[in-house]
Amino acid sequence: MTDANDDLFARARAVTPGGVNSPVRAYGSVGGTPRFMSSARGPYITDAAGREYVDLVASWGPALLGHAHPEVVEAVRTAASRGLSFGAPTGAEVDLADLIADRVSVGAAHPVERVRLVSTGTEATMTAIRLARGFTGRDLLVKFAGHYHGHSDGLLAAAGSGVATLALPGSAGVPAPIAAQTLVLPYNDLDAVREAFAVHGDRIAAVIVEAAAANMGVVAPLPGFNAGLAAIAHAAGALLIIDEVLTGFRVHPAGFWGLQVEGGEDYTPDLFTFGKVVGGGMPLAALGGRADVMDFLAPVGPVYQAGTLSGNPLSVAAGIATLRLATPEVYERVDAAASAVATALSGSLEIAGVTHAVPRAGSLFGVVFLPEAPDDYATALTQESWRYPPFFHAMLDAGVSLPPSVFEAWFLTAAHDEDALARVLAALPAAARAAAE
Ligand code: PLP
Repeated sequence: MTDANDDLFARARAVTPGGVNSPVRAYGSVGGTPRFMSSARGPYITDAAGREYVDLVASWGPALLGHAHPEVVEAVRTAASRGLSFGAPTGAEVDLADLIADRVSVGAAHPVERVRLVSTGTEATMTAIRLARGFTGRDLLVKFAGHYHGHSDGLLAAAGSGVATLALPGSAGVPAPIAAQTLVLPYNDLDAVREAFAVHGDRIAAVIVEAAAANMGVVAPLPGFNAGLAAIAHAAGALLIIDEVLTGFRVHPAGFWGLQVEGGEDYTPDLFTFGKVVGGGMPLAALGGRADVMDFLAPVGPVYQAGTLSGNPLSVAAGIATLRLATPEVYERVDAAASAVATALSGSLEIAGVTHAVPRAGSLFGVVFLPEAPDDYATALTQESWRYPPFFHAMLDAGVSLPPSVFEAWFLTAAHDEDALARVLAALPAAARAAAE
């Protein structure tokens, strides 16, 4: 039997490549018809056929407070009534930059001295890298296998054959000479970083790393890894870019860096990138960091960056409202909801006899069909990923929308109350049995 989702998917495929505007939405790795969503409120999302799901995707992270939080919606409505876009600076942009800079601090550590607002995480990382290159006068970039930083050319690079080998294009359309400006190293392996720096150190502008990896499943940095990156990069005159597009303002008021520094890990990134939560569900992202580096950006510095819709008033209003509402209690609620689901997920898979781990990084978690949580991408790829599609579809049939890939994190929100959580917990045992078959 077909429904409105099937009809829309057929129409969409006729007019849009693959029927979607971002590949993972096509359900490619789980099969079936993607749900075309029509509305969302709190922890729930409703599809075009009128079916409601408990949503554990949260727009891939932004909906920290739950969908359509009334105060965020009101802030956007008010901003819209004053004009959709000015192409000129606004006071609200200054407020948001101050909020970002103030929140990313722990004790005396206050590493975000300047902020530039952009519209997507891709722009934020692309700009941070150009800035690092402009500041250091060097070209090479170090990134880690399995880390996603958006889809700019140099970041769609695949590992070469050795750790000190320059990368190959990770997508058709990326020129080989551009991919060759990137070194792709195994995650959580400081020896590999040392080796790459030993060979190319004086040519490396920056190391970019997800604050905690969450685009190859959730893979937290080993203790000391991020701090080790800072030490190695700084000793060679390179910069450390911590990509908090996914983790920033989601796992802790000061991001994953804040969580680590509060936990005693002491390191100072030169640049941060933010996205998702910082825009509260509207297109907004940011980069920030050391004043001397950030001031290399135009118009004060020689590194060009611009955007017609940068600092858009609607996005800025959503970001300000979201960050102001994201109090410590919000993070406690998200942590508790994540723990409840993670524990029940593991318990159900255990009872069903499915080999698994539920890796965590703060409130982020996911499932991996391996006996232990992996530390790197090569290990993550060895899992029994074929167990995920039946698990995913059993949850979907029971009214729970999960990320349509085993390599994505699950996102809880402060709006996941007892009722919503009970629906997730009730769905897990049958889904775990489906994964066991
Ligand atoms: N960096 C990280 C860590 C991300 O998870 C993402 C997107 O998921 C990006 C960058 C790119 O952000 P955007 O999709 O807004 O371009």
